[in-house]
Amino acid sequence: MSSSPPEYHRRPRSEDTISSAPAGNPGFDDLGLGSDLLTALTDLGYEEPTPIQLAAIPLLLAGRDLVGRAATGTGKTAAFALPSLQRWSESRHSGRGSGPTVIVLVPTRELAMQVSEAFHRYGRGLGARVVPIYGGQPIGRQLHALSRGVDVVVATPGRAMDHLNRGTLRLQDVETVVLDEADEMLDMGFVEEIDALLDQMPPKHQTVLLSATMPARIDRLAQRHLDDPERVDVTGRVGDSQTASLVDQVLYVVPRSHKAAALGRLLDVEAPDATLIFCRTRTEVDQLTETMNGRGYRAEALHGGMNQEQRERVMARLRAGTAELIVATDVAARGLDIDVLTHVVNYDVPSAPESYVHRVGRVGRAGRRGVAVTLAEPREHRLIQNIEAALGSRLRIAKVPSVADLQARRLDLTREAVRERLLNEDCDEVRVVVESLTDEFDVVDVALAAIQLLHDRAVTGAGDAETEIPEVGLRANRRDRQPVAERRDRKSVAERRARNAPPAPGKARLFINVGRAGGVRPGDLVGAIAGESGLRGRDIGPIDIAERFSLVDVPANRADQVIDSMRGALIRGKRASVRRDRA
Ligand code: AMP
Repeated sequence: MSSSPPEYHRRPRSEDTISSAPAGNPGFDDLGLGSDLLTALTDLGYEEPTPIQLAAIPLLLAGRDLVGRAATGTGKTAAFALPSLQRWSESRHSGRGSGPTVIVLVPTRELAMQVSEAFHRYGRGLGARVVPIYGGQPIGRQLHALSRGVDVVVATPGRAMDHLNRGTLRLQDVETVVLDEADEMLDMGFVEEIDALLDQMPPKHQTVLLSATMPARIDRLAQRHLDDPERVDVTGRVGDSQTASLVDQVLYVVPRSHKAAALGRLLDVEAPDATLIFCRTRTEVDQLTETMNGRGYRAEALHGGMNQEQRERVMARLRAGTAELIVATDVAARGLDIDVLTHVVNYDVPSAPESYVHRVGRVGRAGRRGVAVTLAEPREHRLIQNIEAALGSRLRIAKVPSVADLQARRLDLTREAVRERLLNEDCDEVRVVVESLTDEFDVVDVALAAIQLLHDRAVTGAGDAETEIPEVGLRANRRDRQPVAERRDRKSVAERRARNAPPAPGKARLFINVGRAGGVRPGDLVGAIAGESGLRGRDIGPIDIAERFSLVDVPANRADQVIDSMRGALIRGKRASVRRDRA
């Protein structure tokens, strides 16, 4: 079934190329992927493979085992999803059973959802059936999805074991197993589940292990389960960069939902002349261009697909000042030499340190100073670490300016504008206006009114002046990896405790003899109760997890049934005992 790896570095590019990467840079169509997947990538606006994709896709298509060192944001998901979908689509007519052919193990439910969405996006055209299974989701829904037949399962190890033990997950058809964020899975204590699952795979299968770090435990895991793996490392040092000294490299950590507002705020405060903003995909370029235009900036998109004349026109508008922002992908901006640039913005953290260096190198040329802004989401801490390791220096972390900072900065700009006018030009044309007004008003009041008018005009239409952007930091450890639902629950627990409230009308509170000490999370309780009693997830809760026990509110008229159905149920491996809470 395996084909030899495509020699993407030598093969001539086909005529009907989908990627717009300039000749010489391998595109997705050079890697051996089929047309359905290439179309999906074009629709998503991916222009060229990231380094991990370039290295991993041909090897995986050829059936090799692989150990890859790559963090979130490097494009690692597509690096394993694309070849495994391709291999699945090639083998699906071979008459094998209805069990999954691809299994991806991930540490958290958050990642399970993300990875299964990615598989779904890439594999939609191929008709791949993708099911995420993780603790906390009612098991009934997962049973139903698995029983209908499934091609790709993305699972947390604990929940995968549950299904294996119930006989609802069958492994006999598995051809590719991926361990994603393997270091995180080991940190979370999933080593036994991983060993048990891998031991039960059919003898002939491909194994892919991805990890952001490579401690000895990862090597041992690879030795136990992988067959002569290829190794791919996308975190190499980039070498000395000239940019560092002249370019102020600043990092802002911003939740995804506030990125556009944060960008607007930064542009308002910095008031740069000409800015180049990098996004990962064409789709993001278009969206951001539209958003920024909607917020009152003059933004232009630069596409890889534009011909030279169109690109020149966009550049000319930037030089003339009719455009102030250019939004582009790496590919589109390649070869651009823009002398007027003062700022480069990484709207996404670039997936490879090399591309960070290239992007940032657009400013600080010819001895001029420049600013390179990077907007990172909290989860992208590893990518930042890679970049810092490659640069050999830390990025300066700064706070997104507050509304008050912005107002102060705007007043500064107004003062500067008036001062410059006073120093450099006479204002005789309007003298008659001032003189006629000073008959009636004090001259200071006239000046105040005039400057207020100027100030108001300068700020109208500019962005989102009212929104405060939340302060967040880079995610440093696993405590921060709690799923959103859990964080919400902790908060509601604290609130409830503070009020010492009884259950809401129509609800009864149940006492369950397992708690945080046993590793229990809200998802485990919801999963167990929903799975055993048939209650809907939304009818379960609030949940209060203490060290040795938990309290869960359920509809009062179902309480006895829940207690009955939970007899003998296991929660995190411990036999649960459930009763009405006496407190
Ligand atoms: P990952 O490292 O898998 O978490 O991917 C990070 C982000 O990069 C995701 O939003 C992907 O959709 C995006 N991405 C992956 N590959 C590419 C590519 N070749 N070009 C542009 N964006 C990509």
